[in-house]
Amino acid sequence: MDNKRGKGLSFAKRIYAPRAVGLGIGCFSVMAALYPLNVPAWIWGLLLFNGFIWPHLAYQLSIRSAYPYQAERRNMLLDSLWGGFWAASMQFNPLPTVTILSMMMMNNVAAGGPKMLIRGALAQLAGVLLSWLALGVAVNLDTTAIQIYACLPMLTLYPFAVGMVSYRLAIKLAEHKRALSTLSRTDSLTGLLNHGSWKDLLQLSFQHSQQSHSPTTLALIDIDHFKRINDTYGHIVGDSVLRQLSLELKHNLRTEDLAGRYGGDEFCVILPNRSLAQAQEIMERLRHVFANFQHADEPGLNVSLSIGLATCRPEFQHANMWLNEADKALYIAKNTGRNKVSVGSADTLSASAWGSNPQ
Ligand code: GH3
Ligand code: MG
Repeated sequence: MDNKRGKGLSFAKRIYAPRAVGLGIGCFSVMAALYPLNVPAWIWGLLLFNGFIWPHLAYQLSIRSAYPYQAERRNMLLDSLWGGFWAASMQFNPLPTVTILSMMMMNNVAAGGPKMLIRGALAQLAGVLLSWLALGVAVNLDTTAIQIYACLPMLTLYPFAVGMVSYRLAIKLAEHKRALSTLSRTDSLTGLLNHGSWKDLLQLSFQHSQQSHSPTTLALIDIDHFKRINDTYGHIVGDSVLRQLSLELKHNLRTEDLAGRYGGDEFCVILPNRSLAQAQEIMERLRHVFANFQHADEPGLNVSLSIGLATCRPEFQHANMWLNEADKALYIAKNTGRNKVSVGSADTLSASAWGSNPQ
């Protein structure tokens, strides 16, 4: 309900300024058309109320309502009713009538689509009938020069006001879209790329590396005995270790390196333009930093990392072969004592596994 109220409130706020501008300047178009018609004094009072008090009253009614969205739609129908009333009261003087009614149609269709357009047209018709009941039926199709000039502010300023509101709305929507897209690509716990978006980038990096023959290295990083950390210190501490690893990754990598959370306690990094040896150096540094990590609340907590590396090779037919190679390297690290950086069998010809624990 609060959420619905929030959405209704922003709708009411968005409409407030254009309504105040539109009805305020539209009032002058109607005045110019009513002036020669000798209408009763109460009509002038009603016109001033509609032009200068109603927009503020309508806003207050909406924002104080338990359902601001519905209240604002009702206000828009009342706007249309007023519009029909003034069109008939002006004896359908063509230019002010078309100006007022078309601007209201624009509002109605923008706010509620064809349904609101039809309901608005019916409200306009009701306004016409009310005016005929009060003032009698009359039609005068002549527009004088002064009446034309009196419509010009409405014809120029009102579309400008509505255009500005639409523009701001479009900017806001684009910002929300960007934020949503970032959220959908991000792992909520660590702020790194999530599994899906990282895999998409892996595919792109693979294609780029194959086409440009640039050395690119893949690292799979897994926390050793992480389940034991959870079991001993609790999941909150476990989560803080995962976050710490993501922070260290951000500190130790370049902006072009692509770090993600592969899932659980496993992380993945693409290191473009990095040879195996360079990647080994970077990952060794990370491993050391992490081995010396001191948890603020749990001084006894020791954390170590196992890391598997694989370079992108010309014989790989797709990105998964590359990923498998890194997975095999991680498996070697896990099975030869953990807390080490290892390379896959395809890379072993050019380099051997590194690490603090001898194999
Ligand atoms: P190994 O050294 O072989 O990697 O052993 P491990 O205990 O690290 O590996 P295992 O895959 O058995 O355990 C990973 C654990 O990570 C299991 C799961 O409960 C935990 N885990 C997965 N996601 C999260 C998370 O978001 N937060 C926390 N705290 N734990 C998680
Ligand atoms: Mg693990």
